[in-house]
Amino acid sequence: MNSNVHLTRWLSRPGDELVDYTPVADEAMVSALEGELRGRGVRTVRGTFVDSSGVLRAKQVPLSRLGAFNRSGLGASNSWAVFGADDLLCMTPRFSAVGDMRLRADLDTVVDLGEGVAWTPLSLVDQDGVALDYCARTVLRRQIRAANEVGLSVVAATEVEFTVYDAERRPLGGASYGWTRLSGYEPFVDALSRSLESAGVPLEQLHGEYGPGQFELSVAPANPLAAADLNVLVRVVISRVARSFGYAVSFSPKPFADAIGNGAHSHLSFRREGRPLLSGGDGPHGLTPEGASIVAAYVRYLPEMVGVLASSALSSTRLQPSTWSGAYACWGLENREAAVRLCAATRGNPHGANVEVKCVDPAANVYAAYAALVGVARRALEFPEELGPETTVDPADLSPAERDASGITLVGADHAAVLDRFESSSAMLEVLGEAFVETTLAVRRHEADLVAAEGIAAVAERLTFAWSA
Ligand code: GLU
Ligand code: MG
Repeated sequence: MNSNVHLTRWLSRPGDELVDYTPVADEAMVSALEGELRGRGVRTVRGTFVDSSGVLRAKQVPLSRLGAFNRSGLGASNSWAVFGADDLLCMTPRFSAVGDMRLRADLDTVVDLGEGVAWTPLSLVDQDGVALDYCARTVLRRQIRAANEVGLSVVAATEVEFTVYDAERRPLGGASYGWTRLSGYEPFVDALSRSLESAGVPLEQLHGEYGPGQFELSVAPANPLAAADLNVLVRVVISRVARSFGYAVSFSPKPFADAIGNGAHSHLSFRREGRPLLSGGDGPHGLTPEGASIVAAYVRYLPEMVGVLASSALSSTRLQPSTWSGAYACWGLENREAAVRLCAATRGNPHGANVEVKCVDPAANVYAAYAALVGVARRALEFPEELGPETTVDPADLSPAERDASGITLVGADHAAVLDRFESSSAMLEVLGEAFVETTLAVRRHEADLVAAEGIAAVAERLTFAWSA
């Protein structure tokens, strides 16, 4: 199959060309795209919208309706904004049975998945076509634009961890990081690599991870909107391939109570007016003053940001010490127990120095997670933060008194506290906007209520496949 030209174009598009909402494509472009997709055998275009619970909602059209999918969009109740991970609608006075919105396809990003189906990401607009504040994809676009306006450009990639179950719903076998996790399931692993390639995904590596049936793959960095779209696409492709083998895939942050969870570690690097901020400076490990301020702001604001980076009820069970999930709010060079791991500019890092925010998980809305990270980085240039001391050891090896003295706190192990801090965060309110904060709190507090009513084990089981594609 030919490469997916539309995905390629979109991946290479620099962030500063982004507009505030999904562009309306001109008719000549729509008919050229429709013709090209028809030539590839595409009959259906399926769009995804990621809700505030991090769940993928979808609508599809026959190919002949591609233009309408972009121009006027498809109708939906605005209660889509408050879907719980268990599909219960967590209505608020503002998000109820009254009111309508449109789901609009972004034709800059259309990917042929094979078997007659193409995928496109959706944004939410009102009936006059105006972008809606509770659309996380729109919130992210606005944050990228705001960053670009102060000369800041961001490049990002999310690692994808996932758990694969066989037809009997047992996790696949094979050794952690082992040859046997790959060789034992070669037809699946090969089909996955081929499908990712034909979807135009810039796959960098794939391996068997630590947990039962767990795998991880990495993709090349892109502007944060492309990186978020790419994350959704990768999840869609993984799930399609798995289904063709009778397998099932979980993106739950904690599929097994007694095993390591699924993370969605997010790597970000920054340039201002073209100059890298995380290398070439006089600060620790080559940080520039602005790069150091961004790292400091990430550590300082993580306890508030985690409300959108890892705020499902299951996220708190994942964010425990000694699980490499970044449970502690601190920073350190190559420190896998620090929520903010600095990866310096070495030969081993061909994309250059970056920060890895480890606490993010796949139950997050990936667009909102990037919006928070881009927004806090931009604010760190406007209001410089002082970088505290580096954590050079596993924080779990420090005594509680030593952790207190260094200000190292657990970032998200207490779900109720995560949501309270998020609710009272003026930084998150400024970056994400009131509407998105409201929908996030509604759905995540509903998860907390579920846990209170049923217990964490029952909720974990019920939501095992909630974030699947
Ligand atoms: N699975 C771990 C997590 O929950 C991460 C393991 C790793 O460092 O790749 O985040
Ligand atoms: Mg991993």
